[in-house]
Amino acid sequence: MTMTYPVVIIGGGLAGLVSSIELARLGIKTLLIERKAYPHHKVCGEYVSNEVRPYLENLGLNLDSLGAAHIANFRFTSPKGSILDTSLDMGGFGISRYTLDNALYELSLESGVDFQLNTIVQDVKWADDHFDIETSDSVQIEAEIVIGAFGKRTRLDKQMNRDFMNKESPYVGVKYHIKGNFAKDLISLHNFRNGYCGMSAIEDDKYCLCYLTERSNLKESGSIPDMERHILSRNPHLKHIFDSAEFLYDKPEVINEVSFASKNAVENHILMAGDSAGLITPLCGNGMAMAIRAGSMVARETTRYFLEHRSRKLLETTYQHAWQKEFALRLKIGRTVQNLFGREVLSEMALGFFKITPPILRMVIKGTHGEVFTTGSGRQAMKE
Ligand SMILES: Cc1cc2nc3c(=O)[nH]c(=O)nc-3n(C[C@H](O)[C@H](O)[C@H](O)COP(=O)(O)OP(=O)(O)OC[C@H]3O[C@@H](n4cnc5c(N)ncnc54)[C@H](O)[C@@H]3O)c2cc1C
Repeated sequence: MTMTYPVVIIGGGLAGLVSSIELARLGIKTLLIERKAYPHHKVCGEYVSNEVRPYLENLGLNLDSLGAAHIANFRFTSPKGSILDTSLDMGGFGISRYTLDNALYELSLESGVDFQLNTIVQDVKWADDHFDIETSDSVQIEAEIVIGAFGKRTRLDKQMNRDFMNKESPYVGVKYHIKGNFAKDLISLHNFRNGYCGMSAIEDDKYCLCYLTERSNLKESGSIPDMERHILSRNPHLKHIFDSAEFLYDKPEVINEVSFASKNAVENHILMAGDSAGLITPLCGNGMAMAIRAGSMVARETTRYFLEHRSRKLLETTYQHAWQKEFALRLKIGRTVQNLFGREVLSEMALGFFKITPPILRMVIKGTHGEVFTTGSGRQAMKE
């Protein structure tokens, strides 16, 4: 059996869901294929910057009624436990991916998006100006436009022989939900040797505890609990969390091979959005906002392609240009800043420097965030 769609989106994380909602609301028939069913947990720090709060609310999410925690302050600690506290100019909110992605999925269904859940896209072939998509349930799908919103790393990246797949990525991500007596309006970033761990409040009096570590720490310790006891807990703030919190999962969510290498926003004619186009280092706390923004951006360019009968070449160059303009500098700053942290001496020095130069810290944070945005780009494209 072959199904035909003008637009197929591969991956139903933030970028995929947001773009599907915008496209469907503009009357463009869209199919979203997602490997899992909703709701599901994901490795992510779950702190979302307010850059996208008005946008999500305009889309139809009531973040307060979903229980999102308001976060206005930032704490940074060095591996030895020195503290830097500051307020956040833009601030953000904390909400689990379990709740946020599911709420967007429901909006997406209401908007008329077709879904194939529990389905893995195994191959995408480009020929004669269209795509043939092969999925794990053997249904053949044809599409005019494919949006690749499949996240950090999948087998599709390997099949397309994308450059970053040939580079080593030494990072492992680990996430828990915990309960305890901790500040609610604070995102803290605790450094340890070759890694850092973020913690912030989410809904239902819970907190997200999520860290990124170089694989060498895990190799040296032999297991995640031993690494947490012997390496992370050398930071007294992390020791306090691991000793006093109630851990709500039997075991953590874990991902391997996290890569921050640059990627192309268009590959094999597929328009990439979110992490599949480039992942910002998590210490910037802005990958989710960027994925949401990119989802909206790809919907705008796709809408223009259909409404203005643009050529595919124009669609691809315009999208690539818009993506670079919005995100390339942020990714670069994120990579540079990450080099300062997690190194024992360097992060001690960085903390000391930022303590005496708060405006520079503010500038760095600002450099990894965009202006607050409110209206869906797809709707903007309709007006233009
Ligand atoms: C350790 C860590 C901590 C982070 N903390 C934060 C934070 O606190 N704040 C923040 O803003 N950002 C954070 N980020 C970044 C953030 O998680 C990502 O930028 C964001 O999830 C990107 O969304 P996305 O839609 O691009 O991808 P994802 O949310 O990863 O969605 C991709 C989807 O595609 C599906 N998929 C993959 N392959 C296929 C396939 N072949 N077929 C069908 N479906 C497929 C997957 O199941 C998944 O649902 C963190 C990242 C890491 C690694």
